[in-house]
Amino acid sequence: MSTPSLLILAGDGIGPEVMGEVKKIIAWFDDKRGLKFDISEDLVGGAAYDAHGTPLTDETMAKAQEVDAVLLGAVGGPAYDDLDFSVKPERGLLRLRKEMDLFANLRPAQCFDALADFSSLKPELISGLDIMIVRELTSGVYFGEPRGIFEENGERVGLNTQRYTESEIDRVARAAFELARKRNNRLCSMEKANVMESGILWREVVTKIGAEDYPDVELSHMYADNGAMQLVRNPKQFDVIVTDNLFGDILSDVAAMLTGSLGMLPSASLGVPMANGMPKAMYEPVHGSAPDITGQGKANPSATILSFAMALRYSYGQGAEADRLEAAVEKVLADGTRTADLMQKGEGTPASTTEMGDAIVAALTASL
Ligand code: NAD
Repeated sequence: MSTPSLLILAGDGIGPEVMGEVKKIIAWFDDKRGLKFDISEDLVGGAAYDAHGTPLTDETMAKAQEVDAVLLGAVGGPAYDDLDFSVKPERGLLRLRKEMDLFANLRPAQCFDALADFSSLKPELISGLDIMIVRELTSGVYFGEPRGIFEENGERVGLNTQRYTESEIDRVARAAFELARKRNNRLCSMEKANVMESGILWREVVTKIGAEDYPDVELSHMYADNGAMQLVRNPKQFDVIVTDNLFGDILSDVAAMLTGSLGMLPSASLGVPMANGMPKAMYEPVHGSAPDITGQGKANPSATILSFAMALRYSYGQGAEADRLEAAVEKVLADGTRTADLMQKGEGTPASTTEMGDAIVAALTASL
């Protein structure tokens, strides 16, 4: 079997800083667990624009298509705010998602017990929370045609189109059912079938797949507005949630922030299976390039490290090692090591980016 490949695109701002800590983790798995990776690195976002005049070169795009997984840091920053839309750093990220056809965006919302006080909800509502939102990422109202701003009856009209084909619903629903099977066998599908035809079709397709191919998974349906309310009222009622691009954009942000800091939130975007049976995949923290703390050693590397844990689980078939890495992060937090984003004002001296990474490596070693 060939060595599994990984393309690292650190990007801009704190991207290279947090990626430095992931590289320590990768070296640890190589050294102590015999997990070898064929690693290549390249530029994306503003860094690629500075070097090549484009936020993603064709060569980097081709490389991303070939590897088993891409791990991305973050893109963007004030230096690039005035660039033309076509070469803005975010275009590099969107091109990767689009051309790799990454249609299922996995956003876990998991509460580490040590951080339960960080949530805006009461600790008892949040402690032990572990849910996964699967958001459809390549269709729906963000992509539907017709779209635009035009004149009608002497005034301007802004138009977007919510559009889903059966096959688009089918493939993201199957991804969510499969995930539910690997977790607690419960899936809640959210749409607005009460007011939208796309929601009616969504519900029909999900129900049919559930009945025919996943009868062992407990399927429920909820209108997305009620879903938002329930996520804040009693988030622990959910296991896996599947929803469309627009609702998923909002619901996954709500769910994620229940658990505290942006510095802790990983994500995965998955596409169709490759020849080896694993899906095309890109892993990245939810946060951006954090220009306000760039270069100061303050960034929390956990979100990117936890994104690598997702890669271990979903791209490299190393679920037990993913569990080990997540447990190491949890232990470091429980032992009280915190970066500044995880501390209240006046609470003591925060750990630096490298100290946090080193503590996670030490916790990994302690796990052996
Ligand atoms: P941001 O996520 O970069 O930062 C928001 C706040 O959270 C900042 O105060 C920042 O210091 C803090 N923060 C973020 N990540 C952190 C970490 N790992 N550790 C500690 N604190 C952290 O969002 P923003 O400020 O709105 O955007 C900054 C730039 O990033 C913009 O150019 C934006 O377009 C870009 N952006 C990129 C992505 C991406 O690459 N996926 C996502 C969001 C924003």
